[in-house]
Amino acid sequence: MTNPLWYPYTQMQNLPPPPRVTSGKGAWLHLADGRQLLDATSAWWCLIHGYRHPRLDAALHEQIDQLSHVMLGGLTHAPALELAEKLVAITPEGLDRVFFSDSGSVGIEVAMKMAVQYQLQRGQTERTRLLSVMRAYHGDTSGCMALCDPEEGMHQLFAGWLQPHYFAAAPRAGFKAGADDPVLLEDIQLLQASFAQHHQSLAAFIVEPLLQAAGGFNMYSPIWLQEVRRLCNQYGVLLIFDEIATGFGRTGSLFACEQAGVSPDIMVLSKGLTGGYLGLAATLASEEVFQGFYGGPEKAFMHGPTFMGNPLACRAALASIQVFEEDHYLERIQQLNRVLHEELDEFSAPGVQTTRVLGVTGVIEVEQAETLKGLSRYALEQGVWLRPFGRYAYTMPSYVISEEELRRITQVMKAYFLQPG
Ligand SMILES: *Cc1c(COP(=O)(O)O)cnc(C)c1O
Repeated sequence: MTNPLWYPYTQMQNLPPPPRVTSGKGAWLHLADGRQLLDATSAWWCLIHGYRHPRLDAALHEQIDQLSHVMLGGLTHAPALELAEKLVAITPEGLDRVFFSDSGSVGIEVAMKMAVQYQLQRGQTERTRLLSVMRAYHGDTSGCMALCDPEEGMHQLFAGWLQPHYFAAAPRAGFKAGADDPVLLEDIQLLQASFAQHHQSLAAFIVEPLLQAAGGFNMYSPIWLQEVRRLCNQYGVLLIFDEIATGFGRTGSLFACEQAGVSPDIMVLSKGLTGGYLGLAATLASEEVFQGFYGGPEKAFMHGPTFMGNPLACRAALASIQVFEEDHYLERIQQLNRVLHEELDEFSAPGVQTTRVLGVTGVIEVEQAETLKGLSRYALEQGVWLRPFGRYAYTMPSYVISEEELRRITQVMKAYFLQPG
């Protein structure tokens, strides 16, 4: 019999054994057969300090000698308390409360449940739906699946099972669009129409700020996000930012929403939060949302994942944020961003539709998904770990990658399209 391990997003029929990883260092993966691969994906965008960062490793060794886990129901511990304070200090103005869970999807579930319960408890009993955005991706649990793009997302099959929510048109005006750009003005009109139509049943609006990641790397205008904030205020709708992918520098600032100068009412962090070392999510809320849960016991937030606030995960997150600050990551991110622009802005090849860069995210979008079929294997032969999906070849590397290593990745991506035949 073949090995029982079932892989994610993978057709298991005739699956060749995947490369076996034994260790890693920086941006490099070490394989059992002695090969080394340059990781273009930072392990699904979370390993922002690369593999085996000495300070994260040390922090975990220290914590494991004290306390690996304890329940957060009725008890507390220093790593969770310290991390909650740190997150409030570094996140945008107004996010003053922190609820921990163990993965991005669960962090989103917490945000949705929090928003709906908040509305119900202030007597807004009609407000039980969310407004999401086409091309969105918010996770794989059923609550999250219902917020993903219902047409092009990966969960179409489940349409009849999922909770019905509403979807606004995805913004089309790019990151640099000016305030009078006609495409942006049209995007804003469509957004206003969605709010006008659905606001009475909306608990919250949810969006990935500036970069819709897994839904196709849509990099859009901060001005659209400012309009989102204005409309939420106008209609009494809570604003949830899913910064699971964009948080911790991925779009060029610590959090993407800083570039639009707006704060949400609820914000979800995960992926880069622990430097990718352990599963952890934080759902941050404004004081106003938090106050909505004050009163009798029936008003409490009835949620509590077993592993919430795990001390090892919290300690890794504290070390990760410290390294981010002390090692001047925002400067590194700027340098890597410049390299991506140099490498990708002018690139064109047969079958390539366009390229896009934001922060440390570089994307080559092709016309037909078929075109990318051989890319992963080609890159593997060149010593680079790439995992394209749909019509997107992308790199979202760790921030410890050198400029030369990053150029190696983009050069392999480009060379694939320029092969003879
Ligand atoms: C990855 C991701 C999620 C889901 O996080 P998991 O930890 O995989 O459950 C949700 N939203 C966004 C924007 C993501 O990139």
